[in-house]
This record gives sequence, structure tokens and C-alpha cells, in this order.
Amino acid sequence: MQRVFITGASSGIGAALARRYAEQGACLGLVARRADALRQLAAGLPNPQRHRCYPLDVTDHAALAAAAADFIAATGGADVVVANAGISAGTLTEYAEDLAVFERILATNLCATVATFAPFIASMKRQAGEGGVCRLVGIASVAGIRGIPGAGAYSASKAAVISYCESLRVELRDSGIRVVTIAPGYIDTPMTRINPYRMPFLLTAEKFAAQAQRAIDAGASYRVIPWQMGMVAKL
Ligand code: NDP
Repeated sequence: MQRVFITGASSGIGAALARRYAEQGACLGLVARRADALRQLAAGLPNPQRHRCYPLDVTDHAALAAAAADFIAATGGADVVVANAGISAGTLTEYAEDLAVFERILATNLCATVATFAPFIASMKRQAGEGGVCRLVGIASVAGIRGIPGAGAYSASKAAVISYCESLRVELRDSGIRVVTIAPGYIDTPMTRINPYRMPFLLTAEKFAAQAQRAIDAGASYRVIPWQMGMVAKL
């Protein structure tokens, strides 16, 4: 049975990935701030008793580490960890006026990715040494590859996720842990429905989750760019 730990699981891409893995029989660790949304998601998944909900803020690194420790103790370790929790907010003008907005985006999108992976690395090294297949998955964005007007902090955070994951991929290459970076295009989720820069959605969260899972299973570092006709471009 695959053991999968997903942050930002209460909505959008994270919830779609959770449903996909659960339908394939996985046991899940589900993280987000909204406890009610997590409970509702878990209750509607196949084998609801298998899944563990961790209502917490990913910028609280101690809470994240405690959740990871609980999941590892309960399941023996994670096979896949997806650092998916993310926010996009504000405009360039707002960042100039309020550095706190910029810092909150970096804390949620970048620092929490580091804090999500960290507690799993030692146990994944052991699992990989025993022949296990382990993946750390960073969710970046095409905004981290190309700039997006009015989203400087978001773009900067996602560019940093790409470079952090790439460094980790090289660093862990000989450990047997694969680090996968996924850069979605424009997916129909609550995050993008409130975006003032309206663009046609190219994929539902469910279709994107299917593409993302293929990239995760392939275990190499990929950028998934749905607005280029669902092409998966190797880094
Ligand atoms: P949603 O807004 O639908 O989901 C975001 C998830 O992150 C929610 O589950 C939210 O849960 C959680 N979250 C946000 N902040 C925190 C926090 N501080 N602590 C814990 N959980 C948090 O967005 P998407 O599904 O669209 O986005 C998922 C990821 O995909 C993000 O990293 C996003 O940047 C990335 N992405 C999305 C694209 C798109 O087109 N949709 C394009 C490119 C990248 P809760 O509110 O309960 O805490």
C-alpha cells in the first residue's frame, strides 16, 4: 500500500491528488489549515479509516514536523511527499507597500516546502536503502519559469521552489530518493477562480492530478506545462 503525505489537501490540486491516490488504495496524510474541509475530504475517500488528517499551518514548522513524525510512526514512512500547499495574493504595488505580504507568500510556498520534506528525508533514506521507492514532490508553477504580471512574490517563490528542488534532486541522487518538480500551468481551482488576470483554464484539477501522478511515478524531475497541450517537458 502506498503511503502518501500531501500538504494543501483541503482544496484544488491537493484534494484531486488525494482522491486519485486513495482510489488506488493508498493511505494518506492530509495537511491543511481547515480541519472541517480535511475531515470532509477524508470521509468521502475510499477506505476513510486509513487516512490521517493534520489540521495545521505549514508555516508552523514544529507542527509540520510533529505531523510528519506521527505519520511515519503510524505507517512506517512515506513513499510520496507532496509539498503542495500554496498561496497567491496581492499585486506588485501591495508588495511594495507591505513587505509582510511578500514574506507570507515566501513562507508558505518556499520555506514550507523545505519544512515539509525535511522530516521525511532520514526515513526515506532508510526505505530506499531497503529497496523502497521514495519521492519528494515540489509543486512550483509556470510563474516560476516566466514572470506573471502582478505576481512578483508568487513568481519568485515558485522559481525558488524549482531551484531548491533541483539542488535537492542532485544532492539526494545517490540516496535512492527521487525529487520531482512539477510546474502546473493554469488549472481550474479555488486559487485561480479569484485571479484578476483571467485566462482560459486548460485543465481541471482532476485531469492535472492524473498528469502529475504520471510525472511522480516516472520519478525524474519534470515540469508539467499544461498550456502547452499537456506536454510534459523534461528539465
Ligand atoms: P487552492 O487554493 O485550491 O489550494 C491551496 C491549498 O493550500 C489549500 O488546501 C489550502 O488549505 C492550503 N494552504 C494554503 N496555505 C496554507 C498554510 N499556510 N498552511 C496549510 N495549508 C495551506 O490552490 P491550488 O490547488 O490551485 O494550488 C495548489 C498548489 O498548486 C499551490 O502551491 C499553487 O501555487 C500551485 N499551482 C496552482 C496553479 C493553478 O493554476 N491552480 C498553477 C501553478 C501552481 P487551507 O486553506 O485549508 O489551509
